[in-house]
Formats: sequence, C-alpha cells, structure tokens
Amino acid sequence: MVEVSISHPLDGYLRRGALPHIWCAGCGYGVILNCFIRALRELEFNLNNLVVVSGIGCIGRISGYINADGFHTTHGRALAFATGVKLVRPHLKVVVISGDGDLFAIGGNHFIHAARRNIDVTVICANNFVYGMTGGQLGPTTPLSAYTPTTPYGSVEHPFNLVYLAAGSGAVYVARWTIFHVRELITSMKKALMRKGLSFVEIITPCPTLFGRYNRLGTAVDILEWLKTSSVTRYHSNPAEAEITLGGKIIVGEFIDTEKVTYSELVREMTKKIQQRLEKEGKLTLASL
Ligand code: SF4
Repeated sequence: MVEVSISHPLDGYLRRGALPHIWCAGCGYGVILNCFIRALRELEFNLNNLVVVSGIGCIGRISGYINADGFHTTHGRALAFATGVKLVRPHLKVVVISGDGDLFAIGGNHFIHAARRNIDVTVICANNFVYGMTGGQLGPTTPLSAYTPTTPYGSVEHPFNLVYLAAGSGAVYVARWTIFHVRELITSMKKALMRKGLSFVEIITPCPTLFGRYNRLGTAVDILEWLKTSSVTRYHSNPAEAEITLGGKIIVGEFIDTEKVTYSELVREMTKKIQQRLEKEGKLTLASL
C-alpha cells in the first residue's frame, strides 16, 4: 500500500497537535488565524523572532495554535505581559491578539497607556461586540440597542469606537476591517507587523452563536453578507466618524499611518545617558557589575 502524506504550505505556522480548534462553526476567528499566518508567510517572517500574547476569551486560544512562542495571559493583561516581553527582548516582534472585552474593558487602561507610550507591539483586536466565551454578555463595544443576555431589552450604553480610541491614545497605525475583507486584512496585518510603535488592527468578526442569535442576524453566511453589504471602505478618514451602529454603515480602511519614537527607544536612550553620567562621576554602573 502506498502511503500518502498530505502537507499544506501553512503547516509550519500552526501547532498541528493543538488542532482542531475550539471555535464554533461560522465564528470569524478561524479567518483571523488564517489571515495572520498568511501575513507571516508573505513577509517570510522568522517565527523564532515572534511572540504572540493573548488574553482571555474565545480568541485567547489563538496563541496556542500559532507555532511561535506565546503567552495565554490573565484577563485584560495581555498588553502588560507584551510590554514586559518587548522591554527585555527588544529584538522580538510582540503581537497581542485578543478580544474587544479583554482589551477594552478589563484591559482598557493597559491599552490607552501602551498606545500613549508607543510601546512597540502590534495589537490585533477581534471585535465581535460581546463576551463570547462567557455567554454573550454586553461588552464595551456592544452597539446601542443591541440584544445580549444581559440587555434583554436592548443596550442603553454608548459603545467605544475602537479606531477613534486607538488614534486618540496615540497608536501610529490604525486600521479596521471585517473578516469579509481578507486581502485587505492581510495587507494591514503585514503593515502592522512591520511598523515600529503601537500598531492597531480592529477586525469586526461574527459570533453567530451569541451576538448573531440574540440580534436575529441569521446564519453565519447571512452575517457575512451583512458585513459585506454594510461596509464602506475609506482611507485616512476621520476615526471619530467611524462609530458602529446597528443597521448603520461600518467604515473600514486605514485611519492612521504615521511614525514616532517608541518607548523602548526612549528607555534605551535614557539608560545610556544615566550610564554615561555615572561613569563620568566614577560611580558604579550596571555594566561594571
Ligand atoms: S461563542 Fe462566539 S466568539 Fe466564541 S467561538 Fe463561538 S462563535 Fe466564536
């Protein structure tokens, strides 16, 4: 009998032993994982130089599926872990992949301060508008009037506009796509990966099991159709005008694309200055220990 071994060009990017994944049929997270490893492949990225950090939530499993060093961290603390990794191993590319609840509710402060300081990490936010893993409760991005198990009469909270928040906090690259926009998403992920400083990519992704069901959006295919027909692509438009409302248009595209000195660079510069001063004064320096 002839043995046939089948391989896939993306095999090396995945931890095959960790598969099959845990995500529901029709969930957008498989598309996000696929786009991310395709971006790595197109960049010929050396996986030895990559660290993927995820928080808690359904998307949190992603760090276990990618064949690189990774951390599956405590709730909301992915950026705190990522900052630590980046400061002690500045040559590594650190990528945070997490959900809207993890990054912007429990981890909201970490995000705004990481962006303000321009920590050199790429943040990929899978925004499905709810806390999927714990039952679909209201989150910081749930659109006004949307139904969830904790808002059975519709949400009365104004949601975050994540691209506006990221831009206002100081991110150097800000983009938003949906999982329908796979080519654009891969391009944005590549740009974000190559960017120095805090780059942010928001991905609108369906949770048909919870958000879709509670809001009567139909099947996973219907939700994909909704993302396709509701999206309007604009480049360098005002992020303040990119709010997401139920039944409204979803503005996608690149919003911010700029450069500025990173926190790691400033820390290294400052350390050098202190070392030089100590040496000049004949005092003990870290290097002399
Ligand atoms: S609960 Fe929602 S977000 Fe979680 S895996 Fe299922 S579809 Fe995806």
